Amino acid sequence: MTHPAQPKASHFINGAYVEDTAGTPIPVIYAATGEQIATVYAATPTIVEQALSTAKAAQKEWAKMTGTERGRILRRAADIMRDRNHDLSVLETYDTGKPLQETLVADATSGADALEYFGGLAASLTGEHIPLGEDWVYTKREALGLCVGIGAWNYPTQIACWKGAPALACGNSMVFKPSETTPLCALKVAEILIEAGAPAGIFNVVQGMGEVGGALVTDPRVDKVSLTGSVPTGKKVYAAAAAGMKHVTMELGGKSPLIIFDDADIDNAVGGAINGNFYSSGQVCSNGTRVFVQKGIKEKFLARLAERTGNAILGDPMDEATSFGPMVTENQMNIVLGYIEKGKEEGARVICGGARADMDGYYIQPTVFADVTDEMTIAREEIFGPVMSVLDFETEEEVVARANDTEFGLSAGVFTKDFTRAHRVIGNLEAGSCFINSYNDAPVEAPFGGVKASGVGRENSKEAIKHFSQVKSVYVRMGDVEAAF
Ligand code: NAD
Repeated sequence: MTHPAQPKASHFINGAYVEDTAGTPIPVIYAATGEQIATVYAATPTIVEQALSTAKAAQKEWAKMTGTERGRILRRAADIMRDRNHDLSVLETYDTGKPLQETLVADATSGADALEYFGGLAASLTGEHIPLGEDWVYTKREALGLCVGIGAWNYPTQIACWKGAPALACGNSMVFKPSETTPLCALKVAEILIEAGAPAGIFNVVQGMGEVGGALVTDPRVDKVSLTGSVPTGKKVYAAAAAGMKHVTMELGGKSPLIIFDDADIDNAVGGAINGNFYSSGQVCSNGTRVFVQKGIKEKFLARLAERTGNAILGDPMDEATSFGPMVTENQMNIVLGYIEKGKEEGARVICGGARADMDGYYIQPTVFADVTDEMTIAREEIFGPVMSVLDFETEEEVVARANDTEFGLSAGVFTKDFTRAHRVIGNLEAGSCFINSYNDAPVEAPFGGVKASGVGRENSKEAIKHFSQVKSVYVRMGDVEAAF
């Protein structure tokens, strides 16, 4: 019997599901059981061509609609997503393995927020009038054209919406390639947009591995590439986009610092560290995986952290009581277990967890290492799993320097009751998305993105509009033209 997660076909192009079984089969594995629940096929060159030519052709008419009309469609799509939140959340859980307890509140809902927010902004996109005596310049905010979105596997619905909603609001069309690990959810976003009244062809989904992503990025018809993925992939995609002088947004990896001063409310700081390391089983790019704790409160902090981490409920992700799910794939589980072994070998102290959980599926126990030092592998490399490194520090100056000593710069957080210090420390940290007495909030109203190797550009907020549009400037002369000859 066909599993309910099996999509009607692999791709969604020009308003309809499209199949081409000549592509490489991609099995979809449910991480909680290891069972294959669906198959999709990687896009063949024919499918890639269909998606790009359709999106190119559809864009001009879409951009000619008023912002109010485009916005209405996006907001209608947001309403449909909210109405179907339960079914979409179940699908997200099948796609990723994340517990339903999370997906019910974090995935289709945040996708709907993006559709609603950018739907609301669509009608407000205007230019400027710049008076120059009797002459003037006016500017127009125009679409870039055809945009490509490429997603990672941790938030397949959210990533499709975070890219699709601002792109469409600005009058662009999009070809979106989900991660080959989680190909299911973006198809539903495409389907819902059509149902909401979007013209066929403005949001298309094609499946495939890096090769398909590469074919999209290098196509001369493409004007912009927005990638969510790892730093090594980001470097390749950025270089390929640069060769064609395309616009880019790069949302990449991190190894973010979370700094806890000894005056902090311990329970809030522990809560921040848990949210910043164990949500989605640690598969979150902005996680604060280097938790710097001031020496005076170290043991108290570790004791409370171990106690609360012990309350995590590992189990069937479809059971709403489960608060901690598996790694997305067996491969990702093995990568994370490799880092845990490295942490032990290099002398870090295991406070809790430290092994695979004794159950079916790709579960790893939430793991906390203490006595971690700056040069240890677990303190330097992005693990993308439930592994928290706790490091000690004494002074503010020292911790800021150590926190910044990384190639990454996605996020940073500070817990303290001293507000002057909080703002000063955040001001000195090299990171794009920061938190004071909180961690990992990502409302659509706030810009999201990294500095240094963690990325280029920003998603969400009014900032995203700048990255999906460009300004045309028009000089208007009222008098005669003077020329030298
Ligand atoms: P990945 O880099 O392996 O893949 C990301 C996407 O890029 C996939 O769809 C993949 O098929 C595609 N891809 C791979 N090679 C390509 C190429 N040469 N050309 C075009 N496309 C190519 O990342 P992943 O393992 O799916 O996701 C985990 C990574 O994503 C982590 O590093 C994480 O930090 C990062 N991430 C960042 C954010 C953010 O917003 N900053 C959010 C989620 C995840």
